This record gives sequence, structure tokens and C-alpha cells, in this order.
Amino acid sequence: MSNNNIPTVKLLINGEFIESKTDQWRDVVNPATQEVLARVPFATQDEIDAAVASAKEAFKTWRKTPIGARARIFLKYQQLIRENIKELAAILTAEQGKTLADAEGDVFRGLEVVEHASAVGNLQLGELANNVAGGVDTYTLLQPLGVCAGITPFNFPAMIPLWMFPMAIATGNTFVLKPSEQDPMVTMRLVELALEAGIPAGVLNVIHGGVDAVNAVCDHPDIKAVSFVGSTHVGTHVYNRASQAGKRVQCMMGAKNHAIVMPDANKEQTLNNLIGAAFGAAGQRCMALPVIILVGESRNWLPELARKAEALKVSAGIEAGTDVGPVISTSALERVNGLIQKGIDEGAELVLDGRNPEVAGYADGNFVGPTILAGVKPGMTVYDEEIFGPVLCVMQADNLDEAIDIINANPNGNGTAIFTRSGGIARRFQEDIDVGQVGINVPIPVPVPLFSFSGSRGSKLGDLGPYGKQVILFYTQTKTITARWFDDDEQAAAVNTTITLK
Ligand code: NAD
Repeated sequence: MSNNNIPTVKLLINGEFIESKTDQWRDVVNPATQEVLARVPFATQDEIDAAVASAKEAFKTWRKTPIGARARIFLKYQQLIRENIKELAAILTAEQGKTLADAEGDVFRGLEVVEHASAVGNLQLGELANNVAGGVDTYTLLQPLGVCAGITPFNFPAMIPLWMFPMAIATGNTFVLKPSEQDPMVTMRLVELALEAGIPAGVLNVIHGGVDAVNAVCDHPDIKAVSFVGSTHVGTHVYNRASQAGKRVQCMMGAKNHAIVMPDANKEQTLNNLIGAAFGAAGQRCMALPVIILVGESRNWLPELARKAEALKVSAGIEAGTDVGPVISTSALERVNGLIQKGIDEGAELVLDGRNPEVAGYADGNFVGPTILAGVKPGMTVYDEEIFGPVLCVMQADNLDEAIDIINANPNGNGTAIFTRSGGIARRFQEDIDVGQVGINVPIPVPVPLFSFSGSRGSKLGDLGPYGKQVILFYTQTKTITARWFDDDEQAAAVNTTITLK
């Protein structure tokens, strides 16, 4: 506890939850009430060095821990997360704002990765080719890299840390996590449960902070790989800085996801899906649908879409029936409201105005209700920037080709969706669209961990995605061994000065 009775968020170094010695702190604030829930430290350089040193030391033994021992920790961990999911969701809603049901979803999507990590024995298999030359075999080992690090955003404070450290640790690495300083509390509860599940001291460490902590992670010579999820601006910086320092880096970044609505789509289903994907989690999902392109006659569906959006309940995430909670901070609220005004000033039509809603009992919350801007075009700020609030931009196209061209001309490539009843149209879309994750009558096509998160183009830097199959390669170095064994009584072969194996 700090002197004013507000709890402090701890660092985790070498298995101990410790109070930071820093003099720089920041409040963790409930976005529905402005209540200060905790204070989070900005770790000192010494503390960051201690976290990395503890991970480096732990790697010496952890890398050789048997597969089954590693897997069993994650089996236990998934059970502990399940048992504590209500408590985790309540912490998440208090500090982040999303509804309790959505907070459980946030934990659940991370839990799926933990389940996947418990199957690590099946995932981290090498390959073997027998007799690549006479008496010679070639095989591969997927060996852990060493100390890896993760930097996470505010919008999924359970799921995204769980995209990172379970897979890194299950594959034999040790880890330093830097959670979002805006909502680190649910992440810390998940970390406590990870230790309870049996993750040994030093294998998982947590530091807190902002720019300086992130830069220290990028620069630290003992960190071998960095996984980042957050905005494009920060991700690009992290990618450049950490790559320059010789690290393996993957950055999942900002988005502007479009949905195409074909006139043959199931109208009721489509409108409900669009509303959920545009305004759920107050639009603060990297896979939200903030842009829709109404093709042909589906442009007539706009009034009904607006009526459905207007009917959503805006309130605190803990209130029953809430559809849209607050945005994360007062500055985020100011930014979203400012962008809506900019949209109007730049010529978009305000179909539904969600600014300054009356929210009974929560006069101080960071609320903005569902907002719809129509007639949006590339070049308008509301189109060119990621708004990250409950604001839906509506565009129109005469046909599928025109709609596909709009999406492919956008620099982002995180996700996209099409709504149609035509298999032929859906297949054309899937073939021609230049976006890494595609939904067909599925508005938020985030892959389960049997696959990897595969955003593309401007939404991603680095070749391999987080979790799933791809991340096994990200967190391991393939070592290829070519071996020949001589019998003791074998005749010595002639000296071979060529590079050919015989
Ligand atoms: P952010 O980029 O502001 O913060 C991400 C992390 O970077 C945090 O841990 C933060 O402490 C740190 N950081 C912030 N400013 C920094 C700076 N100037 N220098 C170095 N580090 C800095 O992102 P956010 O606002 O927390 O999250 C929202 C963003 O994340 C959106 O752009 C969203 O699209 C994106 N996101 C992307 C994905 C994906 O998978 N593509 C998933 C979730 C969120």
C-alpha cells in the first residue's frame, strides 16, 4: 500500500512481487467513475536490469525442463484461470471499462492460448530425414531463444499478455512482460495465477512503465525477441529500435477494418453483426469494424442500422444490460469527440450523434455513445485515422469490385468481413482481398490458436504472428543437424574436398 491507502501494482522479479523504488507513478483509473483503483510504478533501469538478469539466470535450467513438466504447468494454469474467471473479469471491467460479459470473453480468448500452450509437445517437434546421404541423417531441433519480452496494449489486458508469455515459456524461453500502464491489474492477477500453477522463479518477470521501459526492453542486450501489440506509431518505433539492436521482433499494430455488405446478405443477421462489431467494447478492438461499405441496394439499410445502434445501452460495464461501456481515458474521450467533429467539418453526414450521452449514475465516466458518419471518403481524417471509439464510418460502392478496391487501397490489413449469401461472391472476396484475416458472415474473424493471428500490410511488422503455429517458430531457433556415425571397424574413407555428402 502507498501512504494514501491506494494499493500499488507490484513488479515481479525472480519470483517475488516487489514494491518499486521509483519516484514516478501513475494512477490506474476506473473509466466509468474516475475512481483511482491503484498506482502503477514506472520501473527504474536497475529494476528492469534485475528482471532481465533473473530471466537470463532462470533460462539456464528452464530450457532443459522436460516437455511434460512444462505442459503440466499450463494444464494447471488453464484450470486456475477457469476457476477465477469471474474475479478476473470483474478486475478487468473496473480498470478497462468493457462489460462483464465482454471481459470474460477477453479472458477466455487468452485461456484458449493457455490450453494450446499445454500441447507444446505436439507443437515443438523437429523434422528428420533418414539417409540424406549414405549413413547420414538430417534432423532439426526447435530450441528456445533465451529471454523474450512482451509489450501489451490497454484494450485486451487479459488476452494479449496470454498471447505472449504462455507460448514463449512453454517453448522453453523465459519472459519479461511490460503490460499497459493504463490497466495492469488483471494482467497481474493472471501473473499471480501463473506462479500458482508452477511457473518457477525468474521464468516470468513483470516490469511496469511507459516509453522508457519500452525503450529499455528494445535496447537490452540480453533480450533476444520482442513481441509487441499496440498502435502503429509505437509498434513501428519498437520494430525499428529492437531490430536495430539485433532482436527478433513481431509487432501487431493499428487497424481500420472494413466490412462489405452485399444486397443479397441476410439483413437482420448482418445488421446485428455490424452493430456488435462496430460498437462492442466501445469500438476499442483492433478487430472492430469501424467502416462498412454498403454495396448497391444495401445502402437503403442505413436508417435501420442507425435505429439499432441508437437502441444500445451506454453505461458502466458492471451494469446489467450495458452494450457500450466507457472509453479508456478522458484523453481518449476528448480525442474521439474531436474526431467526430472533424468528420462533420470535413463533410461527412452525422447520421447518429453519440457525443455527451446522459448516463444515469455515472456523470463522470468517459462515455461516448454509438455514432454513425455517412458519406465518408478516403482523405477525411475519420477515414484515414484509427478512431478507436464507437464511431462507424459508412461508405457506398456500386459493386463488389469497387468495394474491394477501396479496402485494398487502405494501408491497413488487420481484418475484414463480407456479408453475402453467395458462395461465389464470398470466394471472389477471399481470393482478391489483400487483408490478413477475413470473415465470411463473421464480423470479427480472430483465429483460434490452432491458427495464428495473421494481420497483414500496415497492421503488422515482422513475418510471424502471435500464438498458434507461427509463434512456435518466432520463439525458437531451428537448429539443423546432419549426422553420420562411424562403426569402429569401418574403413577410413578417402579425404573428400568437395561439399557433396556421399
Ligand atoms: P499504445 O501503442 O499506445 O501502447 C502499447 C504499449 O506501448 C503500451 O504498453 C504502452 O506503455 C507502450 N507505449 C505507449 N506509448 C509509447 C511510446 N511513445 N514509446 C514506447 N512505448 C509506448 O497502444 P494502446 O493505446 O494501448 O492500444 C491500442 C492500439 O493497439 C490500437 O492502435 C489497436 O489497434 C492496437 N491493437 C492492435 C492489435 C493487433 O493485434 N493488431 C491488438 C490490440 C490492439
